[in-house]
Order: sequence, then C-alpha cells, then structure tokens
Amino acid sequence: MKNLHLSTRLLHADRQATVEHGAIHKPLHIATAYSYETAAELTAVFQGNQSGYVYGRQGNPTTAALEAKISLLEGAVGTVSFATGMAAICSMMLALLKKGDHVVASQFLFGNTASWMQTLSQIGCDVTLVDATETAHVAAALRPATRLVFVETIANPRTQVADLNGIGALCAQRGVLYVVDSTMTTPCLFQAKSVGASLVIHSLSKSICGHGNALGGSVSDTGLFDWSGYPNLHGAYCKGTSTGWGLLQIRKKGLRDIGATLSAEHGHRIAVGAETLALRMERACANAMQLALWLEQQPQIARVYYPGLPSHPQHERSRSLFSGHGALLAFETAAGIDPFVLLDNLALIIKSSHLGDNRTLAIPVAHTIFWEMGAEQRASMGIADSLIRVSVGIEAIDDLLGDFRQALGKPRTP
Ligand SMILES: *Cc1c(COP(=O)(O)O)cnc(C)c1O
Repeated sequence: MKNLHLSTRLLHADRQATVEHGAIHKPLHIATAYSYETAAELTAVFQGNQSGYVYGRQGNPTTAALEAKISLLEGAVGTVSFATGMAAICSMMLALLKKGDHVVASQFLFGNTASWMQTLSQIGCDVTLVDATETAHVAAALRPATRLVFVETIANPRTQVADLNGIGALCAQRGVLYVVDSTMTTPCLFQAKSVGASLVIHSLSKSICGHGNALGGSVSDTGLFDWSGYPNLHGAYCKGTSTGWGLLQIRKKGLRDIGATLSAEHGHRIAVGAETLALRMERACANAMQLALWLEQQPQIARVYYPGLPSHPQHERSRSLFSGHGALLAFETAAGIDPFVLLDNLALIIKSSHLGDNRTLAIPVAHTIFWEMGAEQRASMGIADSLIRVSVGIEAIDDLLGDFRQALGKPRTP
C-alpha cells in the first residue's frame, strides 16, 4: 500500500485493519462501555499497558478508524478526534497549558478561535496576537514562557497566508510547539508536517466532511516535536519513547476530562465524506480560481482576496506551499454597491455561515461571524464592512458565474 497515492490509500484504509465481518466500511460502534474477560485485562487497559477501549468518552473503534485516516493523510504518528474543530483547539490547549504560560497566535484567526484566545487570556495564560505573514513578528513575541505558536494556513476570511516555513524553522530552533490549523488547505493541498508543524488541527466539519452533515475536529501529532522537553506533561503519560506523550495527554486530559467527544455516527459520516476529498478539492479550487478571476474584472467589485490571484500579497508563497489555493475567497463591493442587496440577489448561492461545503455559500462577514468582536479588532484583521466571504462549492462553474452575473446586473438599491 505504501507506494500508492494517498487518495487511493485513504479509500482502502479500513481494509488494512481487521474489519468486522469483512465489511468494507468500518462499522458504527455505538457502545458506551467496553468489557474484558478478566479484571486483570480491564486493569491493563486502564493503566495503558494493553491497548483497548474502556469508556466511549475517550473514543471508540469507529472514530479510531477515522483518526487513522487523518494520520495517514497528514503523515502523522497519531490523531485524536473531537466533537468539533473548536473542541479540538480548546481541549488541546487546556490539556497542554498551565496558568502563566504564554501563547503566540496569528492575529488573522477564525473568529471563534480568536474568541477562544480571549477566553484563554482570562483564565491565566498570556496571549500575544501577531501578523503571522512575517516570521519576524512571531520571533519578536516569543518569551521564555511561550509554550506554543498557533497559526492558520490560509486565514479565514481575508485569505492571508502565514509564513509557514519561516515560523516552522523558528519554532524548531527555539524548541516551541508549532500548531498549524490546516482546515482551509486540507491534507490534499498541504501537509503541515512539511513546514515543521508539531500538531495539525482540522475542523472536520468543513471540507474533509464536505457534505455539511456532521461536525468534528482533530489534532494530529506529526512526530517532529520532542515532548521530552515539554514541561507540562503528567508523569503517568511519560512512559516509553517520548513520541506519543503529548498526544496521550491530549486524549486523556483533553477528551477524558473535557469530554467533547466525536460520536461514532458523525465519525462515520466524516470518513465517508473524506473518501471524495481529493476530487472535491480539485473541483472547488478550480471553481474558486475562475470565480476570483471573474469577480476581479467586475466594476461593482472593489477588491478580491484569493491566494490564487497574482494580485494577492502572498500569491507566490501560496504557490510554493500549496498544491491549490483553496476554496475560500472574499471580496469587497465597490462604493455604491450594497453588499446585502447583492447577496439577496443571488439565487443559487446560499447565504450561510458554514464553509467547505459542496454547495457555494456566501456571508457578509462584518455583520455576522465577526460582529461580536467589535470594529477595532475587525480593523486589525482587515475586515471591511462590505466584505463578503464566499466558500466555493463543486457546482458547475457556469452556474456560479451565471448567478453572480445576474445578481450584479440587477438594480443596486433596495
Ligand atoms: C470552522 C473552523 C474551526 C472550528 O471548527 P468547528 O468544527 O466549526 O468547531 C476552526 N478553524 C478553522 C480555520 C475553521 O474554519
């Protein structure tokens, strides 16, 4: 299997393990608890001396099969799944950080992650937000107490591309945990391990599932970080080689204590969705590219943000790092064009907050997902009031262009 393409290996991954009754899908395991023949075996599993399941909050065979697939896609040594992407991010940090620790994060973050950073600073950790498109800003923010650096690959919604290579080299040199949220790129466009990421985050609710019918999140360990030097690990998780220590603590402290566990049913839906990830990403990225190029030509549109456009400030970086520029674009309407009227004129494209769906979705950013943070933080993230985010789906491109064409051609005032 090793010499086959990743997309092929993903499709045949379940069969590589022993699957019950030869089923070609990993079955749904809905049991809450697991039992063993002897008390000694139960004890061995509890104490981590024998592999197995004890209680569903720490996972089940169905979610474990999904975790194995994500590890395969990321070239990771292991993955822990969670109920949502936010659960993955919060649980990972709560599992690994202590009061007084310092975190450096990109100032261009998914809105709810930005909100979480605020919460984190209120419960005893210091957080410094920096412009992660330049490594120098991250370097300047590092302190002796810095435990982790957190960045996104392509930021949502303005599509800034972090200096992923530079920050990776910096973190390696300083021995700092490097956490990369690769939701926007997916393992199809980018393996975060290639830039030295220690942990890779995915919101599985987005493109990996793709069908908008399940929520999930994951944390993968690339095996590049030396956990033996990490100060906050519990002694019980530091047995044997240090490779697995961090992820074990994320599973134990993150899943067991916090309990935002991915259900078997949603894990299954995500695994089925992931089977077509490569096909869907290819189509969605091609659609996004064409749509971005077309929108950039329209007089009613002031600016288009898409890493695939030569006008994008990190276009060259995106080309060198990713095998596609993603399925997300954003644009500002020109003066006199009401973004709400434009959105209401769209007939096919859906007004929705979600992204990474098979269907194309659009949303006025400042008034919805980035409303609560206030004007000042929006300004620091480059969010104009007229900004519309478009998550491009896999429809026929002519239909997407046609919908925008008719919407822009309609009268401009309500
Ligand atoms: C959606 C998203 C998240 C959160 O994922 P949920 O599954 O919605 O909780 C985190 N990071 C990024 C980049 C996202 O787009």
